[in-house]
Amino acid sequence: MAEQKQMWLDGEWCDAASGEVSEIFDPSDSSVMCTVPRAGAIDVERAVSASRLALQSKDWSLMDPAQRGRILQKMAAATYAAAKQLAALESQNNGKTFREALGEIRYAAWTLEYFAGWADKVEGNTIPTPGNRLNYTLRQPLGVTAHIVPWNFPLQLAIRSIAPALAAGCTAIVKPASLTPVSLLEWCNVIQECGLPSGVLQVITGPGGEIGDALAGSSGVDGIVLTGGVPTGKAVMKKAAENLIPVALELGGKGCNVVFADANLKYCAKAVCFGIYMNAGQMCWAGSRLLVHEDVVDELLNLISEEVGKWKVGPGMAEGVRIGSMVSKDHRQSVLDMLQQGLEQGGELILGGNALDGELGGGAFMEPTIVKGVGVDDLLFKEELFGPVLAVSTFSDEKEALQMANATEFGLLNGIWTQNLGLAHRMARDIQSGMISINEYPITFPQTPFTGWKSSGIGVEQSAEAMKFYTRLKNVNVNLG
Ligand code: NAD
Repeated sequence: MAEQKQMWLDGEWCDAASGEVSEIFDPSDSSVMCTVPRAGAIDVERAVSASRLALQSKDWSLMDPAQRGRILQKMAAATYAAAKQLAALESQNNGKTFREALGEIRYAAWTLEYFAGWADKVEGNTIPTPGNRLNYTLRQPLGVTAHIVPWNFPLQLAIRSIAPALAAGCTAIVKPASLTPVSLLEWCNVIQECGLPSGVLQVITGPGGEIGDALAGSSGVDGIVLTGGVPTGKAVMKKAAENLIPVALELGGKGCNVVFADANLKYCAKAVCFGIYMNAGQMCWAGSRLLVHEDVVDELLNLISEEVGKWKVGPGMAEGVRIGSMVSKDHRQSVLDMLQQGLEQGGELILGGNALDGELGGGAFMEPTIVKGVGVDDLLFKEELFGPVLAVSTFSDEKEALQMANATEFGLLNGIWTQNLGLAHRMARDIQSGMISINEYPITFPQTPFTGWKSSGIGVEQSAEAMKFYTRLKNVNVNLG
């Protein structure tokens, strides 16, 4: 019988009130890994009450902020120490390679370290006012925060928002994606001895539509952060509007690499592959569009084909594998269906395009895929497939390149490839997206903002900016008599 995992609520491991469970799968062979509680609205109420009590007790929100920082440092150290064990679980539950998972978990530990440093640096201002007065601002914890997490970087994206929330003195209730709760539950074990007071951090497992919806609509929640798809973002924002609470939404993307003729094509080819085949292309910031100057398209595609030949597909824990399983066969089917629909509109399939069977048949594996000659109105140019599919289009000059880069509803990360400094910075100024990377792709750091424009979201993760979401401003006026 599969191992029965519990969720972490109010300082204890527990089952759902209903006793119901959901099976969790290893997508590389479709076997059942374990079960987790299938929580319902009643469990959400319990979590929210515990979170509010933990906030009101002030043990956390009014703790010496340097001490809060030390607790976060301990959490970072515990995460580094357990990185390999957590990465193995992440690989098994999500399908991604062990190497990718290990990098993500170390990145998450780094994020905890970074925000540990912020705990005692959240400052207000004194404001010059007329008369005999003192006027100042305080930045205080936002309160009870709910964190809804997707399945593509399960633990890293959870910690990305947990870290600033805790550093600010908030309490946090985290809902992992239904498919991938395992690493976050195990992480709660890993950080048990770090000193978080009971109820400050809780993890609730269950279906998104039910648990996520209940969290977003709860009057006991003071702020909600979602990383997920656009429809979910809209649903969460509508719910949050009922209680007038702030939301931070990190949503989808359709990033491009814009490659001018003078670019270092060899290096660019490697980065393009990294940007679309890492994590089997299941990335919000994937460079799923490649916009290339017409003079160098053939040369770049040859280099990409050579590079992609080195990206072996297989089980995430196997030696030498660069592309693991996708998260589920259902998700793979949705990518294959969209690819098919896209190809009916035009474009030429020059690599891959199929599910892999044979000895990989038990899992959700897919070939790395390239379609060239994609038009700006085609589905493959516009829609986020969330799989290992690269759509290639050409341009003839800077003006056309810019128009094409911006011809999408999304605006997350875009790449620019050129040796021409002026051109690079003009493009960086004019591309409508929250993040731009010049001559490398994709890249981010805990200390740099991760933010989307247009349908890619509202708000900022990472960096000093994230601390603003988790604190609220208060103005104090004093009559000095
Ligand atoms: P999703 O929107 O289906 O699910 C995200 C989370 O929301 C899950 O925990 C899910 O259970 C929950 N959820 C589902 N319905 C809900 C509802 N009605 N109310 C509240 N919560 C609900 O997304 P996904 O398939 O898990 O992830 C893929 C999407 O996430 C892609 O669009 C991707 O681009 C996006 N993403 C964005 C970023 C970013 O930082 N911008 C990072 C990773 C993924």
